[in-house]
Amino acid sequence: ILDKADLVIVGAGFYGATIAERAANEHGLKVVIVERRGHIGGNAYSETDPDTGIEVHRYGPHIFHTPNDAVWSYLNRFTSFTDYTHRPFSVFRGQAYSLPINLATICQFFRRQLSPDEARALIAGQAAEMAGREPDNLEEKAISLIGRPLYEAFIRGYTKKQWQTDPRDLPASIISRLPVRYTFDNRYFSDPHQGMPLSGYTAIFDRMLDHENIHVLLDCDWFELRDSIPRAVPTVYTGPIDAYFGFSEGRLGWRTCDFSRSVVATGDYQGTAMMNYADEETAHTRIVEYRHFHPERDYPVDRSVIVHEYARSAGAGDEPYYPIDTLADKALYLRYRALADREPNVHFGGRLGTYRYLDMHQAIGAALKEWERLRTSEFAHGRKAPA
Ligand code: FAD
Ligand code: UDP
Repeated sequence: ILDKADLVIVGAGFYGATIAERAANEHGLKVVIVERRGHIGGNAYSETDPDTGIEVHRYGPHIFHTPNDAVWSYLNRFTSFTDYTHRPFSVFRGQAYSLPINLATICQFFRRQLSPDEARALIAGQAAEMAGREPDNLEEKAISLIGRPLYEAFIRGYTKKQWQTDPRDLPASIISRLPVRYTFDNRYFSDPHQGMPLSGYTAIFDRMLDHENIHVLLDCDWFELRDSIPRAVPTVYTGPIDAYFGFSEGRLGWRTCDFSRSVVATGDYQGTAMMNYADEETAHTRIVEYRHFHPERDYPVDRSVIVHEYARSAGAGDEPYYPIDTLADKALYLRYRALADREPNVHFGGRLGTYRYLDMHQAIGAALKEWERLRTSEFAHGRKAPA
């Protein structure tokens, strides 16, 4: 199969699957996807919990959201979405608060009713230490947005646990992902398009890759096959960029997660899908109760499946989940990027391949863009004959 391929894709996550789908359907290319794991879907993979029948996400909770109309309509070819709207909570010193930080959180935390203007004035006073200064790390950015007391309650401990890194050494961009609202709107994402895929995430990948020209090799590490693939065949590589170069420049910093699953004897353990734990002393960062992602489904009423999540730095054998992206990491990534630019016929993409904190819609959007580039450059004159 490999020597007849027009295009080899390393990784069957959203980035790889999108390129494969476009290349096969739009250009009739013969595509081989090489996937190290025993399943398609990358980190968005979902499966049925054997004890409860509840759909769980093996690599952590995935909620689809996007402001991008093109990505939304592309994905809607393969699935429809429920109207699930994500509204997590955060526990601080034994009390549950609304997230993201909104007027309800501010009123509850300061124990009084505040109008939007009053709340703005209060927070502006508490953020005064940042006045006139451009924040250049996560802590400064958070203080400039919500002031020090809310930062210390909801962000500092959680972030330290989650990233195992001082918030002053983390990029401000991590926290810029979260909205801060002076209304009682407690939707976690502001995007116009959001929801859960009606039949689950894995079903999306089954449909995307259902084409006679797409072959998926599961349980195959590309590094073990690369020498048997003709050099002239273009490759899209979505694995970790540092692994591609054998870590020659050093290891990029990644954060991994440990997931601890339990089945509980109640039909509702916490009343919502996601409960974050802000206190540094609580070891887990959050508890996910998967049934709440699909309230429309007929799930058992006497049991539920919950997952405690613990974060730590990724070691050599761990799954790399989140790029830590300190200044040292950024410099190292640029060295790998320079090597990648000189690598003939290999296109690096996706979250691991570009060392970027991409959400699903961004991975799909980047893949659509890259396909457009490949279509008009590499494959402008039809298929590229393998050597
Ligand atoms: P991946 O899904 O990681 O796919 C890469 C694939 O490459 C993997 O399957 C891997 O096994 C394979 N691979 C790597 N090396 C090799 C090799 N040598 N040979 C063969 N195969 C290889 N996004 C959202 O939009 N909303 C969310 O709520 C959300 N929550 C998340 C929660 C967690 C805990 C995590 C980790 C991520 C979350 N994301 C979320 C991000 C989402 O997972 C990514 O945007 C998406 O997975 C990116 O797709 P990708 O194809 O780039 O990478
Ligand atoms: N964050 C926090 N407290 C929370 C939720 C988020 O401090 O209760 C911070 C934390 O640094 C996190 C970042 O905001 O990494 C982005 O949050 P998001 O929920 O997007 O993180 P994800 O779990 O998707 O990485």
